[in-house]
Amino acid sequence: MAKSKKKNGKKKAAGTGKSAARPTKTARGGATAGGHKSAGGLALGRGPNPARVRAILQGLDEAYPEASCELIHENPFELLISTILSAQCTDVTVNMVTKDLFQKYPDARALAYADPRALEQEIRPTGFFRNKTKSIMGASKKIVEEFGGKVPQTMEELLTLPGVARKTANVVLGSGFGIASGVVVDTHVQRLSERLDLTKNTDPKKIEQDLMQTIPQGKWIRFSHQLIWHGRRVCNARKPKCAECNLERLCHSKDKTI
Ligand code: SF4
Repeated sequence: MAKSKKKNGKKKAAGTGKSAARPTKTARGGATAGGHKSAGGLALGRGPNPARVRAILQGLDEAYPEASCELIHENPFELLISTILSAQCTDVTVNMVTKDLFQKYPDARALAYADPRALEQEIRPTGFFRNKTKSIMGASKKIVEEFGGKVPQTMEELLTLPGVARKTANVVLGSGFGIASGVVVDTHVQRLSERLDLTKNTDPKKIEQDLMQTIPQGKWIRFSHQLIWHGRRVCNARKPKCAECNLERLCHSKDKTI
């Protein structure tokens, strides 16, 4: 089921309140991940060994207990469209655009037979609007004509939709249906998996395979959200805030700033 809920009549992405905008105080300023405060990461070595992975997961749980999808949606279809729109675009811009978009086009049928020129202009702020229009209309049409108007719930079927690759399918399955079919590997997950030495690969598909072997399946959905949150709030691409990072003693990245 989609995690987002209506509150006071307004759509809201789960866990996106102000208090969740940064890591918890304890996690930011206090003990290091997994409570390994003294010898910390050194004792746990490098690479994805089980004890180190457990410590990383514990640190992420401490820092981001409420991590969830930040794309505002009310159902799996809205999440699918938002995820397609989020390529090369911030969630904030997507949420701004979809606020009006989903009012005008409330379901797959409405988007499947939209006026493409009008739709292009409506989603223009998200960038790549011509291709995204084709993907959105193509996916919606297929959902209407081949899946009875409902977003399919298997990786195999989702991958048949125009504009949908594994990352989008994993977002929809995980955050839309609660199905852990894989690990979402976006730019943040890719960068952090590398910095945290959870993979040696650079290809997202191979990174996903590495993570699926390392992370327990029951944690796949939350782990993706937590890495994305950590990447947005602390472990930024250009200048990671290592002094604020509760995984610092577990991290041996050459990108560290302390
Ligand atoms: S690079 Fe810095 S911010 Fe990123 S995980 Fe390592 S210590 Fe934390």
